[in-house]
Amino acid sequence: MRSCCLICQQSWRQEADWLNVFYARPIPLCTICTSQLKPLDNKGCRVCGHPGVDFCSDCRQRSGSSEFTQRSLYPYNPFVKDVLTAFKYRGDAKLAEVFSRELYLLAVSNFQKWDLAACIPLTKERLRVRGFNQAELLAEHFTPAPLLERTSPPSKQSKSSAAGRRLNTEHIFSCSDSKQIKGKRILLIDDIYTTGATLHAASEALIQDGASSVKGVTAARALLKNS
Ligand SMILES: [Zn+2]
Ligand SMILES: [Zn+2]
Repeated sequence: MRSCCLICQQSWRQEADWLNVFYARPIPLCTICTSQLKPLDNKGCRVCGHPGVDFCSDCRQRSGSSEFTQRSLYPYNPFVKDVLTAFKYRGDAKLAEVFSRELYLLAVSNFQKWDLAACIPLTKERLRVRGFNQAELLAEHFTPAPLLERTSPPSKQSKSSAAGRRLNTEHIFSCSDSKQIKGKRILLIDDIYTTGATLHAASEALIQDGASSVKGVTAARALLKNS
């Protein structure tokens, strides 16, 4: 049968193999695009899964701040960057399917169980401009709850002050309902892990409000030059 690739839009002949038999709805990706999506093995850093190291430099610097651990599907290479950019900025929500099921399987295989799942929220301003939260589309298989709220970006004045920069207020989160999260194991979902500052800040907000543990999964992650 002929299929149209979700990423490159090329039409190609999809062989009827065992994958198509077992998956009721196979993700339509051509063999070229599939070959560019090489999953991370996530056997590296004990906190963030960065490949090739036991404890990466970013996580060492942050050591002791929380017990948060996270895993990612793919390295944030130029191909994955293009796909996520199309998904995020051109509003091509259909592309979420490239990641959503694999992201759920990644969470199950690394963290087995959680009580509540939550997406990293956008600021109100960014949500207004973009019209959707990309993390919510990626979390299709998780049934996420709105556990977190994000403050607005800092004003120009606070951004320019040393204190404002130190606080990095773009990463301040608060919990919408601390009763709901008390004693619960929370799983966070986001699109990209770069320095980890966003996910760690969200995790700390949840732990401070009584969550028993916080884990995270992202579709892609940046790799450090010197880890
Ligand atoms: Zn393709
Ligand atoms: Zn790490």
